[in-house]
Amino acid sequence: MCVFCKIINKEIPSYQIYEDDACIAFLDISQASRGHVLVVPKKHSDNILSLDEEEASHLFQVATKLTKHISKQMNILNFNIINNCGTIAGQTVPHFHIHIIPRCIGDNNKFVFDHNVLTKNEFDNLVTLLKYN
Ligand code: 5GP
Ligand code: ZN
Repeated sequence: MCVFCKIINKEIPSYQIYEDDACIAFLDISQASRGHVLVVPKKHSDNILSLDEEEASHLFQVATKLTKHISKQMNILNFNIINNCGTIAGQTVPHFHIHIIPRCIGDNNKFVFDHNVLTKNEFDNLVTLLKYN
């Protein structure tokens, strides 16, 4: 059983801030910044690729409510809302979760993206490949 399933089953403790029928939210044990929260479905899915879409809607609704709540309680207006899918993307716990990470000036967190330059042809080819009707 994965570590988040054990937390859901109360086999290991967590600093829980929210629970409903479908999910729980608790403080990340390693606080990227003060107030770093994880929103986790009770039903195990490895990652977004196996996540039910209705469930995903609910989880993002809860993440939205909690972000607003954290914002009000901590007087913070900047956040990163992150999901890592797969080890190459930085996922370390194989149970889907949404990170809510409050951001403050000088908090030292860095979420860096590469900036690749594509030609118009390359963009057009990507649209052909990825267009979803
Ligand atoms: P990922 O790297 O998969 O996107 O995020 C997993 C997160 O789970 C990490 O930020 C890590 O600190 C957190 N984590 C791992 N084990 C535990 C645990 O036992 N309890 C809590 N509260 N967080 C955990
Ligand atoms: Zn699990």
